[in-house]
Amino acid sequence: MKTIVTSSVKTASAFIRSGELVGMPTETVYGLGANVFDEDAVKKIFEVKNRPADNPLIVHVSSYEQIEQLADRITPNAEKIIKNFFPGPITIVLQKNEVISNFVTAGLDTIAIRMPNLEITAKFIDACGVPIAAPSANISGLPSPTSWQHVYNDLNGKIPCILKGPKCKVGIESTVVDCTSSVPTILRPGSISIDDLRTIFSRVKIFPKLQNGEVKSPGTKYKHYSPKAKVTLVESKKELIKIISKSGKKNFAFIGFEKVFSARKSKIVKSSNDYAHKLFSFFRSCDEIEIERIFCQKVEEEGIGLALMNRLQKASHS
Ligand code: AMP
Ligand code: MG
Repeated sequence: MKTIVTSSVKTASAFIRSGELVGMPTETVYGLGANVFDEDAVKKIFEVKNRPADNPLIVHVSSYEQIEQLADRITPNAEKIIKNFFPGPITIVLQKNEVISNFVTAGLDTIAIRMPNLEITAKFIDACGVPIAAPSANISGLPSPTSWQHVYNDLNGKIPCILKGPKCKVGIESTVVDCTSSVPTILRPGSISIDDLRTIFSRVKIFPKLQNGEVKSPGTKYKHYSPKAKVTLVESKKELIKIISKSGKKNFAFIGFEKVFSARKSKIVKSSNDYAHKLFSFFRSCDEIEIERIFCQKVEEEGIGLALMNRLQKASHS
């Protein structure tokens, strides 16, 4: 299959209308989209990505009316998030309505919904005329794509079209919040932080920390975000130098707040936001030159730092 890369929303949306998949930009990471109401198209997402069938998709919308087409009921907690944070890098989980295929939700009776904050994406969804089911557009297990070139590298020849947009501003996946319970519960941390949510809710829970090991957001249990290189988290450049001088190995890279001159590749970040923006792209560029070991400097688990540490820890455990 030939993969075309286009900036035309009209061209890309025609593929969706004919039951095909499209790699699409968003402000978080690139997605692999299909018409949510076309079960055969949705099944293709799982085949192309090699995604486990029990990992549900996020459905992307461009209007409030489309949320009503997906959810059984929009709860007061969901209304608050929609009012304050939509469009944006946050996903709400609601009871699904009966027309939604079980393939979209991986058999769950809930559905994850997000309105991306990127003009080309909103125009694309409008042109498709239907909500778009889309997980990240990477092969399962690899870091999420943050540029159209990353999507091309993973899926060239496997999908007919990539809608070309800018590099992803946020760079890590959305915050997922369960809005079916009385207290909103973060199922996956993202760039909208618990403190952001506390500006509109008196109580907010973080699911994985409260319930030892139990998983409610299915995707969070899978190996994720990981480059081929071994990832090690360090507090400081000093700790890294100590490890390297012991092992004697030179084929390593570093990402953090300082430059490491002895590294084959060293990326300086200015803030946790900047770190999140650059991380997955850095992982991919290290794999391209076959770096053996990547050292990542830890960050405070505040604001986007919680989500960043969540991704770094996952990458280091695989
Ligand atoms: P991805 O876009 O590749 O990060 O995948 C979407 C993620 O959204 C999944 O890995 C799940 O963790 C989460 N998700 C999707 N639907 C639901 C749902 N109904 N309940 C909880 N989490 C969900
Ligand atoms: Mg993903």
